[in-house]
Amino acid sequence: MIDLYSDTVTHPSAGMRQAMTQAVVGDEQRDEDPTTNALQVQVSALLGKEASIFLPSATMANAIACRLHTRPGEAIICDARCHILNSETGGLAVYSGIVPRIVNGHRGHFTPEQVEEQLTLSGHYRPLTTLLACEQTHNAGGGTIWSLEQLQAVCKVAHDNGLKTHLDGARLLNAAVAINIPASDYAAPFDTVTLCLSKGLGCPIGALLVGSAADIARARTFKQQFGGSMRQSGILAAAGLYALEHNVKLLAADHDNAHRLGEGLADLPGFDVEMPIETNMVFVNVKRTGMTAAEIASRLRQAGVGCSQSGPTRLRFVTHMDVNAEDVGRAVVSARTVMG
Ligand SMILES: *Cc1c(COP(=O)(O)O)cnc(C)c1O
Repeated sequence: MIDLYSDTVTHPSAGMRQAMTQAVVGDEQRDEDPTTNALQVQVSALLGKEASIFLPSATMANAIACRLHTRPGEAIICDARCHILNSETGGLAVYSGIVPRIVNGHRGHFTPEQVEEQLTLSGHYRPLTTLLACEQTHNAGGGTIWSLEQLQAVCKVAHDNGLKTHLDGARLLNAAVAINIPASDYAAPFDTVTLCLSKGLGCPIGALLVGSAADIARARTFKQQFGGSMRQSGILAAAGLYALEHNVKLLAADHDNAHRLGEGLADLPGFDVEMPIETNMVFVNVKRTGMTAAEIASRLRQAGVGCSQSGPTRLRFVTHMDVNAEDVGRAVVSARTVMG
């Protein structure tokens, strides 16, 4: 099986497992886990912020960010296809009591004018808009990369209007590697940033929320309240430290493989590959095949290729460190056999 369902399917490598077994640990809830503390220091520096907090998942990091920056009844501006809105089971409503002001971005990216348009909807009978969220890379938008200028521009409008800003940077390092811009530059316009370790970076578990010392101090309280405090989490943090040292540079190969895959799939009858492919994701609209995405995903699975469904006629393929160029070539051949 060549599993292109997601980059979450990566298994910790032998080197990572070894680092995990050797981790020095303590009680993380009491700030006494040295490896977790070291990871937090390193990720704060990587993203150019004062502080960070290690969490079980990026979903929890986003939930805590929303909770930090808003009060119940307020509104968050976000893209229609963003993860916070579509893949966190309404967490923004449950944990923060907020409503979305939805912007229809282009492949997940919206403009300062679209933010301004949302902000004109003010008045004492409207929800107060207090948070803007962006996603880098934008998953459902196509693994797409916001330009630094556009991120700066939307955050400027937000800050000028008294909003806080949060970046769901679950795959921020994919953008940084693809464009060769430091992750801290992308993080700079934001009050808080989420970074996920269990996607392309290959860790089994873990994410961080990064921000000012004051915001992260409050985030500690929410971490405890949300049940996210851990004990000897150094075992997991060691995987994170290993990933930052060894796996970030592997992301470039994932991007190359996604390009290869996209080119190969584009040759299949009725497969419309969304272009350009910017990072490690390939989205394909299969409407012209006359079949549904579910039907094609099932055929591909039988041929040994895993992918995910992203709409009635939309499929997603994600490359990662557990598939190499040869695997991608084999996946295309298998797909051609069942679709040709
Ligand atoms: C996967 C993902 C998350 C959530 O990450 P988990 O660690 O699995 O909770 C958040 N945002 C984006 C854009 C994602 O792709």
